[in-house]
Amino acid sequence: MKETVLGIQVNTETYDELIQQIFDRIEKKEKSLIVAINPEKIMKAKDDPALKKLLNEAEFQIPDGIGVILASKLQKGNIIERVTGIDLMMRICEEAAKRQKRVFLYGAKPGVAATAAEKLKELYPGIQIAGVQHGYEKDNEKVVAAINEAKPDILFVAMGSPKQENWINANRDRLYPIIYQGVGGSFDVLAG
Ligand code: UDP
Repeated sequence: MKETVLGIQVNTETYDELIQQIFDRIEKKEKSLIVAINPEKIMKAKDDPALKKLLNEAEFQIPDGIGVILASKLQKGNIIERVTGIDLMMRICEEAAKRQKRVFLYGAKPGVAATAAEKLKELYPGIQIAGVQHGYEKDNEKVVAAINEAKPDILFVAMGSPKQENWINANRDRLYPIIYQGVGGSFDVLAG
């Protein structure tokens, strides 16, 4: 279910419901983009029609900012739980480890994604890391080839917003993964 918050579509589901829907889509091979919605992004979208369209057309918009929950409450909406980008990423990794689905980490400075991947292996033993790629490679064809050769089911992109969402949208049709999540500075947080 979606609700419109200040002109932007936002999912009203809890973590558990979202995880169910995301992994159903993997089974059905339905490509999906997950974007995190916070007041900052809503403000950027006001002045940027292309960004607004991209956000509204994503398959999942999670209520990441507390301001989004407040705005929903004020309009007597249905968003009950805050869903942050990093927490959803962790939940997806936990479930991916259980279901043997492959994850790829793209973004952040050289070395960071690899350290974040090591952290994920400690937290979720058995998780299949298909590959990692830093976020400063100039040759986009190289990045696309590396991801496709690794055959991940899920791709996390950490390059800040809206850069990561624009990159996903421009490349998703020729990419192998099914689930795409823009996760901002999450690899830096995980790597510590
Ligand atoms: N980044 C990147 N490539 C770029 C620009 C940024 O990989 O061309 C990375 C940067 O190293 C950092 C992340 O993107 O890890 C941006 O994090 P930030 O916290 O600014 O993103 P936000 O969560 O605020 O969108």
